Amino acid sequence: MEFQLAKMVREQVEKAANKIDIPGHIRDILKCPMRVLKVSFPVRMDDGRIVCFTGFRCQYNNALGPTKGGVRYHPELSEDEVIALAAWMTWKCALVDLPYGGAKGGVICDPTNLSERELERLTRRFTTEIMPVLGPHSDIPAPDVFTTSKTMAWMMDTFSMFKGYTEPAIVTGKPEVMGGSLGRKHATGRGVAIVVRELYKKLGKNLKGATVAVQGFGNVGSHAALFLAQMGAKVVTVSDASCGLIDYGGLPVAELMEFVEKHECLAEYNKLKSCDRDEVLYQDVDILIPAALENQIRKDNVEKMKVKVISEGANGPTTPDADRILEKRGTYVIPDILANAGGVIVSHLEWVQALSGLQWEEEEINQRLEKRLVRTFDKVWKKAKEKNVSLRTAAYIIAIERIVKVYRYRGLFP
Ligand code: NAD
Repeated sequence: MEFQLAKMVREQVEKAANKIDIPGHIRDILKCPMRVLKVSFPVRMDDGRIVCFTGFRCQYNNALGPTKGGVRYHPELSEDEVIALAAWMTWKCALVDLPYGGAKGGVICDPTNLSERELERLTRRFTTEIMPVLGPHSDIPAPDVFTTSKTMAWMMDTFSMFKGYTEPAIVTGKPEVMGGSLGRKHATGRGVAIVVRELYKKLGKNLKGATVAVQGFGNVGSHAALFLAQMGAKVVTVSDASCGLIDYGGLPVAELMEFVEKHECLAEYNKLKSCDRDEVLYQDVDILIPAALENQIRKDNVEKMKVKVISEGANGPTTPDADRILEKRGTYVIPDILANAGGVIVSHLEWVQALSGLQWEEEEINQRLEKRLVRTFDKVWKKAKEKNVSLRTAAYIIAIERIVKVYRYRGLFP
């Protein structure tokens, strides 16, 4: 299984690259990560034991600007996953026209088994280990799976202590009181819903009453569900790592979000009978939002899926062979690098606010997010028609073309 995910991104990129004219050496540069830092470090546990952890920070490509990407805490995290996620960040930033390259990092750990103090010590030590590559103009982390605004506050504080001054632009997704952007928390989910709305418009269909399934009721999935419900769609099934819930009459999304906020997962929600979490994927619904992890829609389960539109909240939820089957079937897949770009779009706004010392109104943030996403969706739609390719391949073509243009101008050092 080693480096399967990084191979998957390469396959997606190659498919698009074959449709356009790219100099061979640029194609080679784009195949590999620019830099991967692997660190091992000890952390003192609450009971006095000292445990060693392994972490990574990959900066995939910085042709367009400082690298940007989340930090993930997960027991099954691997170097392969971090490289793939950093590559997706690179293509995402290029697609939505941000002045950023792509990065990703994380620590192999089970945060559900760590106390808050242990998590803080782990975060501060990890930040210290990757300090040599971090910086507001070199590499800017953000939250991802199992990391939150609190994790970002610890990272910012650690970086600032070493520097001797407070550096709010070193991370995004911070608490609002310390410079976090208004609207950042729901930005990714909002974006996932906006692109579905745009697709429905292009197809001349009405979102009102369209049925929705959401896999992964975390930050991205729950907010996507909420915005789709506000747009008139009916969320009928959701899942998290603990279980699934189904009600074709429509689920109370806001109530479920409050419940998860208090109880951490859906398992104890007893107003409905729970089901196996994977059942959510196989419901007869119009729209599926995979918003958990990679590799969820695969060759071995795609045949069981009846959905007509997929908006990828998670990064890399669909494998290339499943993607081919969906394409043949005529299922619209709004690719991750477009569907979940709302997060990095607002992260960029947060970074700009930190660098300039300004704070913008939430309305302005939401408008800027909406404008950039709608414009990008339109470009991807047109490119897909022009080249007769899927939305994913069209999105990659646009992203690759931008990076190639920049390489042509920048030339080769030395
Ligand atoms: P999160 O930790 O808030 O939520 C993840 C959710 O997925 C949790 O509810 C978890 O229980 C659930 N989950 C895990 N395994 C599952 C499974 N097998 N079946 C069903 N549910 C499962 O994380 P998040 O920030 O919402 O990120 C989710 C995905 O979105 C990741 O792929 C992440 O890289 C991507 N993403 C996040 C952001 C962001 O702004 N947070 C931006 C872009 C992309």
